[in-house]
Amino acid sequence: MARASIAIHKLTSCSGCQSVILNMGENLLTLVQLVDIQHFIEAGVNNPDAQVDIAFVEGSISTHEDEERIRQVREQSRFVVAIGACACSGGVQALRNVKDSEHWASAIYADPGYLDSLADSRSVAERVKVDLQLWGCPISERQLIAAIRALLHGVPPVLPTEKVCQECKRAGQVCVLVSQAAPCMGPVTQAGCGALCPSFGAPCYTCFGPSEQPNCDALGERLVGLGIPANQVAERFVSISAGVKPFQNAWARWRIPLKELEP
Ligand code: SF4
Ligand code: SF4
Repeated sequence: MARASIAIHKLTSCSGCQSVILNMGENLLTLVQLVDIQHFIEAGVNNPDAQVDIAFVEGSISTHEDEERIRQVREQSRFVVAIGACACSGGVQALRNVKDSEHWASAIYADPGYLDSLADSRSVAERVKVDLQLWGCPISERQLIAAIRALLHGVPPVLPTEKVCQECKRAGQVCVLVSQAAPCMGPVTQAGCGALCPSFGAPCYTCFGPSEQPNCDALGERLVGLGIPANQVAERFVSISAGVKPFQNAWARWRIPLKELEP
């Protein structure tokens, strides 16, 4: 029986999710026995126009080239899987969606006329049909392998719908929000990472995207109640998953416009 073919494409991103795949060690050796890797530029396999069974797409739609590329990838792939916070939400690049992108560009670059960037950064699913989204910054190797196995066996991959807090509690971690008054976003973030950050004593920063029915109002009020300034609370919602509505709405609720802060 022919092995399934896969491609790993990169759009606007830092390549961190591709690095997770490259660093899979023995699991990568197992993977290459199960599938035929047609395109994976970071591993030196360069065939971006290959027709494949599964295309994994890292990165956001942030440039005209990304827009063109994702249309081609969709046409030449049976399944399209968005991998990472950039592909699933627009990523940190989507900070421009809640601000004036022209202002940012001219504040940073001496001659922004050379830039070929769109006014906003979008997820893959906002431009083409996506069959599965694997969140994270970067993705979880465990989730990726489980998803590939499921797709190869023709069954729908099962992803968690609970919140990071639930994984955190099961792992017996001390809550950093309660014990350190740290601005942990676990109560509104989708599980899947095994509560990685709290396991190192650090607050979650939403890289697995919004959970089902995230109660952003309640979390924002709790953080303000801890003495965290409203503007900092707003920024916690739009960091790595800045492109999703529940977090943008929370940002809009808590942010204080700069002119109101001026003396
Ligand atoms: S540390 Fe964060 S993720 Fe863990 S229980 Fe507390 S708020 Fe939830
Ligand atoms: S705890 Fe939050 S920020 Fe850290 S890996 Fe998990 S989802 Fe991402």
